[in-house]
Amino acid sequence: MSKEKIYYEIKECRICDSDKLQEVLDLGEQPPANSLRANVNEDLPMAPLKLVQCENCSTVQLTATVDPKYLFSKYVWVTATSKTAREYSEYYASEVLKRLSVGNPFVVEVASNDGTFLSKFKSRGCGVLGVDPAKNIAEKATQDGIPTLAEFFNEEVSKKILAEYQRPNVVMARNVIPHVEEIHSIAKGMSELVEAEGLVVVEFHYADIIAKELHYDSIYHEHLFYFSLKSINHLFEKYGLYSFDAFSSPISGGSIALIFSKERKNHQPYLKDLLIKEEKSGLNHIDTWKKFGVEATQHAVELKSIVSNYAKENRLIAYGASARSSTMLNFAQISNNEIEYVIDKNPIKQNLYTPGTNIKIISYEEGLRQLKGKHLLLLAWNFEQEVIADLRADGFTGDIIVPLPNKVRVVRSKS
Ligand SMILES: [Zn+2]
Repeated sequence: MSKEKIYYEIKECRICDSDKLQEVLDLGEQPPANSLRANVNEDLPMAPLKLVQCENCSTVQLTATVDPKYLFSKYVWVTATSKTAREYSEYYASEVLKRLSVGNPFVVEVASNDGTFLSKFKSRGCGVLGVDPAKNIAEKATQDGIPTLAEFFNEEVSKKILAEYQRPNVVMARNVIPHVEEIHSIAKGMSELVEAEGLVVVEFHYADIIAKELHYDSIYHEHLFYFSLKSINHLFEKYGLYSFDAFSSPISGGSIALIFSKERKNHQPYLKDLLIKEEKSGLNHIDTWKKFGVEATQHAVELKSIVSNYAKENRLIAYGASARSSTMLNFAQISNNEIEYVIDKNPIKQNLYTPGTNIKIISYEEGLRQLKGKHLLLLAWNFEQEVIADLRADGFTGDIIVPLPNKVRVVRSKS
């Protein structure tokens, strides 16, 4: 193991500076979830993966900030590769635009990735500009007709945009706000950039679903914050943005797109309802998160026991070598002792090994061959229906262990 220190730990809340941080769940020392390796003997840096809640502003967050150079991944998730994301992008554009009254609006997206979402705005007559720090992806998006600045968005970049472009009517950020340490500069930059009557749209994996469905596998070093409506509103209100509406998103197994304006407006019925439900559920209370921590720990023990029982006969094949599955495997201590191979359709990941658990990643086709007479652990459980339908159609008849949501289930073949 490497002695190199790749992180520092906070003593104070990243949002409000309070030092009243209460422990929720300690997932132990883990390698950065995307550090897939070609050689299992390579040094593997580790960092604590511990979740805490701030008693003052109720923001749930990690204690460790890992140096982004260890998190930067060449296996970066490109939006267009996911069918769910492509379908959702159409819906997203129409939901945002129906809340705007101006013709031909100008739309800026923070962390715009390959431009999949902006392209839906462009085809509806909007002017668009993307901002994304991954240079190769920004260049590709620009070539494909979505002008994209290869920058990490912050207050300074917002000033640069204002100097060179018109003031945008929409500034949006999808699944990026919870991942960045410079969250204050981004929120401030978004607020200063958007036109007075314009909209800021922020999408995030909703803490309510994480807590209720036990998505402890969504905890990994890149994912610094786990926002409720209350905690994210608290952050954006510091910068003069007030939420008034929302719509739901299927991304990550359950996200919310929250819509802010510079003026306080009455809450629309959907958001009003969500806020009431959140208040009733006790989501912002430490007891909810303590219970989550206890249940996640029990879940991992149960999963390990079920998997070990299967592995007595034959090691299992797993499906899905994502950041999420890395957390689950490391926490449950499931490794190449129980799992022979993990299937992943992304060719960039194939022939590499999972971080900390050393399971070789193979293609879907190779996986089908290896699965003969064996059983499967479905790590990509949030794509359960799609994956099981494919496997059954391709003749797989073994048992499928589905770890989440909520509890471990075993799906047996009907034939
Ligand atoms: Zn706080």
